[in-house]
Amino acid sequence: MHELGIVFHLIKQIEDVAKENKIEKVTEVTLEVGEVSTIEPKYFKECYEWAKKRSEYMKECKLNMVIVEAISFCRKCEQTYSTTKYAKVCPHCGSDDTYLVSGDQVIIKNIQVV
Ligand SMILES: [Zn+2]
Repeated sequence: MHELGIVFHLIKQIEDVAKENKIEKVTEVTLEVGEVSTIEPKYFKECYEWAKKRSEYMKECKLNMVIVEAISFCRKCEQTYSTTKYAKVCPHCGSDDTYLVSGDQVIIKNIQVV
């Protein structure tokens, strides 16, 4: 139930924004989800559909997810590459002295309101 925790956290964040801005209804939310984030988009959506009915601000709110490519950086040759293709080993020089630059994030990108 890891996704559900993130969904509740997300809804809480959006509700706080709605309250601060005296918004009555949030109609659409766009999330940026990294390829190697820990959430499973399909399951996340199911949790979201269930949880949003419990939020007075988000009952009819639509969820969009934009999947963002995971990028790693190699310290040895200082180049970037696709993390999902090559994992920890740099395809340019073969070094494993690499780290993830982006791709594990779950970020609220955009919120639409009435
Ligand atoms: Zn390299």
